[in-house]
Amino acid sequence: MSDLQQNIQKLDGYLARFRETGILNQIAGEAVPALSGEIFETRSPVDESFICNVAKGNGADVDAAAKAAKAAFPAWRDMPAVERREILHKIADKIVERADEIALCECWDTGQALRFMSKAALRGADNFRFFADRAPGARDGQALQSSTLMNVTTRVPIGPVGVITPWNTPFMLSTWKIAPALAAGCTIVHKPAEFSPLTARILVEIAEEAGLPKGVWNLVNGMGEDAGRTLTEHPDIKAIAFVGESRTGSLIMKQGADTLKRFHFELGGKNPVVVFDDADQDRALDAAIFMIYSLNGERCTSSSRLLIHEPIADEFEARLIERVNNIKVGHPLDPETEIGPLIHKTHFDKVTSYFKTAQDDGATIAAGGKRVGEEGYFVRPTLFTNAATSMTIAQEEIFGPVLTSIRFSDEAEALQIANDVDYGLAGYVWTNDLTRALRFTKELDAGMIWVNSENVRHLPTPFGGMKASGIGRDGGDWSFEFFMEQKNIAFATGQHKIPRLGAL
Ligand code: NAD
Repeated sequence: MSDLQQNIQKLDGYLARFRETGILNQIAGEAVPALSGEIFETRSPVDESFICNVAKGNGADVDAAAKAAKAAFPAWRDMPAVERREILHKIADKIVERADEIALCECWDTGQALRFMSKAALRGADNFRFFADRAPGARDGQALQSSTLMNVTTRVPIGPVGVITPWNTPFMLSTWKIAPALAAGCTIVHKPAEFSPLTARILVEIAEEAGLPKGVWNLVNGMGEDAGRTLTEHPDIKAIAFVGESRTGSLIMKQGADTLKRFHFELGGKNPVVVFDDADQDRALDAAIFMIYSLNGERCTSSSRLLIHEPIADEFEARLIERVNNIKVGHPLDPETEIGPLIHKTHFDKVTSYFKTAQDDGATIAAGGKRVGEEGYFVRPTLFTNAATSMTIAQEEIFGPVLTSIRFSDEAEALQIANDVDYGLAGYVWTNDLTRALRFTKELDAGMIWVNSENVRHLPTPFGGMKASGIGRDGGDWSFEFFMEQKNIAFATGQHKIPRLGAL
């Protein structure tokens, strides 16, 4: 039996229980259907086949979940942090134990290739361990002495929070938000993306098996404009950690205005990879290809714009075309596959619509530009050349395996093009001129920049974007800053003079 056949067989075993019960919500420690009894279907992007039914939560379910999170908050907040640390480590252990199940389910639900997803499950476990170890120090503050007062700062968890996640690498992204929230002492209502509900269910089950008290982590499946919206409006929810599209972030900000929500937004990107003629071209080529064609290009930090220095452009693009044409598109459970199907018909239609846009704009489709097969949402990895920064394909987030190549003549022009988009999430700069790298990165509008490297995540570093790419940062202590409130307590150190109003 081939690896692919074996994986399909294993997956079938993992999915059997979901086919029977459907995916339920989790409220106050109980697996429950939607209060309305409504369901929706999740289907695989591989062949559009039915996976299972999913509870379709709405405002009533969100209300029940928010109340459960509120009731569970005081005990979770006051639990000694070392005990919280232990539970979070147990969650990580169980993620590792079930990494195979998580990876296979994620691939089938999202179309992501197994070669990337098997690592994503383990990275999710790492996220829990990282924040588990920081839980005991999360409240620590400073002592700031004035002439009359000793100020002591501390941090306390903000309260029950809402976590709203997208369909791209949903397991890993959920752990990024949920792990620090729990480590900080917050309780949670999680609303995963409707296109990819499988692994969010597995994750909450793991957490409760690991000993997480009931109600600390609640899961409500449902539509964004219904379950998602009511979560952002709920008065018991103190903050919303959101990952998704920029225009949804803008909607959420409006929805949360009446209850003065705190927001953390990780939104879209149109990230440049800038390759100068003095760069190590072999490594730059590998990194540029990896950063746009891995994870089906459905990746917020994808290098979706190649900015290539004119003296090396012909050769670099020629090598790029050859490599792109060799990329293996196939079944996501085949370990050889490099690109699987796009998540959903809606998204497939959006991505493929840019093939025509590119031609209308006057660019060249130098590779790809077509679907693969008649079934599922497979597309050939695509490269647009002869593009200009003013074109739609150079401005809009396509969010698929589609790269737009734009040539530049000098550093000033490269910088102007790099910054000429609404987004500012990530940037990749390839040069062996140190001074140029320092100069260029100083001016580049991006929350995260890698020089002579692809995106390599290091958990203590800040992750997030500027401009339309987001507000706030994940990672290290930045996550705790979001999920916690700062408090300052001032103690008088002597008998300082207090103004005496009304005294004789
Ligand atoms: P999306 O904005 O359509 O949906 C994200 C989530 O928001 C889903 O759970 C959805 O149900 C919910 N939602 C939709 N409307 C809502 C509303 N009115 N109120 C509350 N919730 C609502 O995004 P998507 O298509 O699922 O994900 C792709 C996007 O996510 C891309 O733009 C990508 O760049 C971005 N993303 C950003 C990062 C980052 O770190 N910056 C990471 C991953 C993905």
